[in-house]
Amino acid sequence: MIWQYWNHPIETMPRDELEKLQLSRLKDAVRFALRTPFYKKRLEEAGIKSGDDIKTLSDLGRVPFTTKHDLREGFPYGFLSVPREDVVRLHASSGTTGAPTTIYFNAADIDTWADYVARCIYGTGCTKSDVFQNMITYGLFTGGLGFHAGGEKVGMMVIPSGAGNTTRQFRLMQDYGTTVLHATPSFLLHVESKMREEGVSRNSLKLKRAFAGAEPYSEDTRRRIEELLQIDVFNSYGLSEMNGPGVAFECQAKNGLHIWEDGYLVEIINPETLESAAAGETGELVITCLCREATPILRYRTRDLTSLCLDPCPCGRTHRRLRRITGRSDDMLIINGVNVFPSQIEEVIMAMKEVGNNYLIEIEKEGMLDRLTVKTEVTPESFRDDTRPLNALKEKIRRTLQASITISPRVELHESGSLPVSEGKAVRVTDRRAGD
Ligand code: AMP
Ligand code: ZN
Repeated sequence: MIWQYWNHPIETMPRDELEKLQLSRLKDAVRFALRTPFYKKRLEEAGIKSGDDIKTLSDLGRVPFTTKHDLREGFPYGFLSVPREDVVRLHASSGTTGAPTTIYFNAADIDTWADYVARCIYGTGCTKSDVFQNMITYGLFTGGLGFHAGGEKVGMMVIPSGAGNTTRQFRLMQDYGTTVLHATPSFLLHVESKMREEGVSRNSLKLKRAFAGAEPYSEDTRRRIEELLQIDVFNSYGLSEMNGPGVAFECQAKNGLHIWEDGYLVEIINPETLESAAAGETGELVITCLCREATPILRYRTRDLTSLCLDPCPCGRTHRRLRRITGRSDDMLIINGVNVFPSQIEEVIMAMKEVGNNYLIEIEKEGMLDRLTVKTEVTPESFRDDTRPLNALKEKIRRTLQASITISPRVELHESGSLPVSEGKAVRVTDRRAGD
């Protein structure tokens, strides 16, 4: 394997030097934070009046956590640390309820962010000879413009196709010889179903790899996309509060996502006690942004559940790796008193070869009890007129799910391509119990 590094000194920096760099950037982040109305109050209450009050990295523990709720409270300009005139762009979360969370960037921030995304892209083996089709939503969502700028920095030819419209996506791939894709994993699976439906031959495409992220997916889903589309799939993690994409990414070893610790200070905490989790233990990811001036965010509780890999990566990068994010602490479902994460369901069904590329989870009240229904598509080869094998498959899915989550779900099988697909992040769960 020939590893390629976008920024060799930084990516392979010895840990002690990396920590020195983190400390100096943390002091700067605190200085910027003290210029915002929100943190001025918060930090002064915690006895932190200047960047120099942070003497070691462990002083981070004195800084209070920041939550999504705080960001909403601070809407619109409570977290802005530079004059409004210096802001050149904003991104905002859709925010189905309440005020959107808004992140402001100055010109330096935009350039720094693009550089982190370029680091991720380049580390997977991409070069300027690649043609990059960015099949993700552009706009206030960070995925579109974030990858766009990173791709351009690497020197790839970027096709800003945006999400949706698979027929047009195929045309673009064929016309311009696309080699690299970026999309949500659910959209990549949808693309593959559509390819078969529309008779697009794999040989007419030059695809080599894809970046898949913005939503959780299992290792089996990755394998499925890789096998069906015959490409390498790299897991991409980011969130709008930490600029967007470019926070953590898989290298060619594909064994966890390097989180760029020169830009993002990482902690894993127990979401109940808020204490640090033991080394290697799963917990909630907390990130402090060290690479943005206009909107400093310290100790942000992401709600994402993951753990840190403890062994070194063969690629030689010294930045630690996050394990695949399994879900969010707030997407846990409680069904008849049992805790179930949607990712547990995905893991079971995506490992079955008869199961197609899309699935949905529904929960409703039936009398006093909760009723879980799992609707999955079935591959065209398995969807026959004869109902016996289908009934057997249904029963197999039900039994395997029950063994994994202890609840016996109702299982519905659907023809390939018949369940709804969302253009952005997949909406898998419908919970109709609310208000009961
Ligand atoms: P947004 O701020 O809209 O970009 O959403 C960020 C959230 O998307 C994260 O906090 C995660 O919950 C989720 N997310 C992004 N990338 C991944 C990934 N690779 N795996 C799992 N979840 C992800
Ligand atoms: Zn690596």
